Amino acid sequence: MLVKFTDKLISASSARTLGPILKKTPRAVLDWKKEASFRKLIKYVYKNSPFYQKKFKNLNINPAKIKSPGDLGNFFTTPTDIVDHAEEFLCSPPSMAFESSGTTGRNKRIYLSQSELNSIGKFVGAGLFLGGLGEKDRIVNALDFCVWIPGIITQKGIENAKVFNLTAGKIDPMEVYKRIPTYNLNVIIGEPTWLIKLTEIAEERGSYPLKLLIGGAEALPDNARNWMRKVWQGAEVRMVYGTVESGGILGFEPYPECVDYHIDENNFYVEIVNTNAENYGEVVFTTLNRSCMPLIRYKNNDISSMIETPCACGLPLRKLAKLRGRADEIVVTSGGNLYPLLFEEILKDIDSLTHDWQIVFILRGVKEVMEFHLELRDNSLKDTIKETVFASMQQKYPDLWKNLSIGIFETDFIFHTPETIRKPGRKLIRIIDKRS
Ligand SMILES: [Zn+2]
Repeated sequence: MLVKFTDKLISASSARTLGPILKKTPRAVLDWKKEASFRKLIKYVYKNSPFYQKKFKNLNINPAKIKSPGDLGNFFTTPTDIVDHAEEFLCSPPSMAFESSGTTGRNKRIYLSQSELNSIGKFVGAGLFLGGLGEKDRIVNALDFCVWIPGIITQKGIENAKVFNLTAGKIDPMEVYKRIPTYNLNVIIGEPTWLIKLTEIAEERGSYPLKLLIGGAEALPDNARNWMRKVWQGAEVRMVYGTVESGGILGFEPYPECVDYHIDENNFYVEIVNTNAENYGEVVFTTLNRSCMPLIRYKNNDISSMIETPCACGLPLRKLAKLRGRADEIVVTSGGNLYPLLFEEILKDIDSLTHDWQIVFILRGVKEVMEFHLELRDNSLKDTIKETVFASMQQKYPDLWKNLSIGIFETDFIFHTPETIRKPGRKLIRIIDKRS
């Protein structure tokens, strides 16, 4: 009864009225709604999708007996499934397609219907309002418009929010910088590395009092956040978590006190599987409201942990801890299980380094070597940087430091000039394992 009522309320709401509804929905109702949507979805895909029909039959899964994701046992969908069989997932004719930026030459394909895109837009709009957007704010959307999804879903969100916007796309940050005073723009949405570039321009040429900077699609280094806030005269800096496969926003941090990502539990059933002793594991999600190409227990290849304790901001939605990196970026080394966030913590407060760095593991004979590839702003600091990195490692990760100091593994420092580690148009891979 309550579930149906909430569903009705949500579908009748606008982006502006949806936020307060989300904030007031008790967690118990959210959970009932989630389970009910999941049960309905399982029956729906079994009836309509050749991919799920075949899989369920092979695995002797009886859709009538599936009550929640755990009942599916070892059944997951993977990036390989949607590279190889995207069209077999389809339950109804799609209106559009998006692709992930693949590195292998074979992209993942995601199909959506027009009504799904509209619904994603409403939730993105609601997220913007929860994040502090007001009627008089003026947004620039500088996300990429291509076969990749973020530009268009953000645009849909802005349309739903009904505020003034400049649809820039991912153009030269200087072009956006020049237009901030022309249009009195005060909210800027872009990829984190693009926002960093824009902030560098503002730091050099003068900044404006912005209200909000919103980034997504890749991680924003912690130290960059404070620096951006300072340069833009106190602007809030928020990040969202989503992928091409999730279509919409999986996680968002609407208030400064949130720190981690609230999960959009109205649209996603998120699980953490294969957890370690610290409860970190792989992020797996089910799209609860997509009818064209639903993804069930999709392994998103990110590592995080579920936070059950209520957030100080009052939103009932559970949270995902800051991502530790991609599942395929976690490397098992003689120094322990290492992941991008760990190196981010070690390097983040070292001013003479840029935000771009890479760790490469190689073997020298039988010895494991951890290569720090760092971009140094000032070459004269070459001799001291090693000590600074070690001091930070010792303070933040004493176990890793111990393994290094007793010679379990070695380190090399390789310095690069700024803006040379990242290859244009590619996501920066933080950890590379070349030991085999
Ligand atoms: Zn919160």
